Amino acid sequence: MEQYKLLTPGPLTTTSRVKEEMLFDRCTWDDEYKNITQKIRRQLLEIASVSPAVYTAVLMQGSGSFGVEAVLTTCIGKKDKCLIITNGAYGERMVTMAQYSGINYVAYHVPYDMIHDIGDIKMILASDEAITHIAMVHCETTTGILNPIEDIAQISKEYGKTLIVDAMSSFGGIEINVQDLSIDYLISSANKCIQGVPGFCFVVAKLEKLLNCQGNSRSLSLDLYDQWKHMDKDGKWRYTSPTHVVAAFSKALDELVDEGGVFARNKRYEKNNRLLREKLNHMGIVAYLKETFQSPIIATFLFPTEEFDFNMFYQYVKARGFVLYPGKLTDVNTFRIGTIGEIYEEDILQLCDIIKEYVRA
Ligand SMILES: *Cc1c(COP(=O)(O)O)cnc(C)c1O
Repeated sequence: MEQYKLLTPGPLTTTSRVKEEMLFDRCTWDDEYKNITQKIRRQLLEIASVSPAVYTAVLMQGSGSFGVEAVLTTCIGKKDKCLIITNGAYGERMVTMAQYSGINYVAYHVPYDMIHDIGDIKMILASDEAITHIAMVHCETTTGILNPIEDIAQISKEYGKTLIVDAMSSFGGIEINVQDLSIDYLISSANKCIQGVPGFCFVVAKLEKLLNCQGNSRSLSLDLYDQWKHMDKDGKWRYTSPTHVVAAFSKALDELVDEGGVFARNKRYEKNNRLLREKLNHMGIVAYLKETFQSPIIATFLFPTEEFDFNMFYQYVKARGFVLYPGKLTDVNTFRIGTIGEIYEEDILQLCDIIKEYVRA
């Protein structure tokens, strides 16, 4: 098989050292392995800028959606009601989860190329006192739009609500001061900006809130409280853990520290993303989002012509060493290019040369 680099928002391109960690089979009962879990949990709290006295980290088997569903179904009680803010497929997925598990919710829909209006949110909260929780997506990977958390965090605190943030595609790539913002639950996964491989997700949770969630969960496997209770003893997961993925993730965290932390990684992603948009714009391939809404994680581009065939384009680029992502919008034809993972300026320059060749031909 031809090798290629992933320009997708996770799974993404990882380093050889991260992959090499998976060449050894570890025992889930072994102290050394359990210590890896504990080390990861501590490092996650550091990245989230929270105090271990106030917050805890819980790892959960499954992809990112499992983590979101674990939080929604464990942390929103039967008498609670959640305001879900959505401007993309991942916000919509939270709505679907709420429907599946019978969570009381109200959805606030925003067009996919727009961010929320804080005045609207205040109005919704003021007019519906039953609302106890607010759930939102930080970087909506559907388009790459970056939803500001600061204003919602402020309002959430003011109104005394519990704030849930799906920071799946931003955590580790964009600095988030979870404690300052008083986010109650933040969810992300192994295969996004920490640059691990897929297989588990994690939640940074405010202890005071999580401690109140015993017996809430509508699902046994996704009971976040029970998962935490088991894991917090000594790092042993409740059910079989993805040992290879956990070891690789631990290495990925060390590499994030070596790179200079989230600040340095963010700079690299920003540079990748800006360079990509500038170069493609020169070729007549225009970004879907307004520049001020654009995250450094992934960019969505409009098809340059009516006749543009994404599949042909995809195969052409793949044969030259990179894979891209189709669009996820229903109203306009788009494709997406991720700028996260083990990707540097020279990769973006190489990709842009390939695209230029294709556009010319
Ligand atoms: C990747 C992602 C998820 C989780 O998707 P999975 O396919 O379950 O890993 C959730 N929300 C956002 C914003 C994401 O980018």
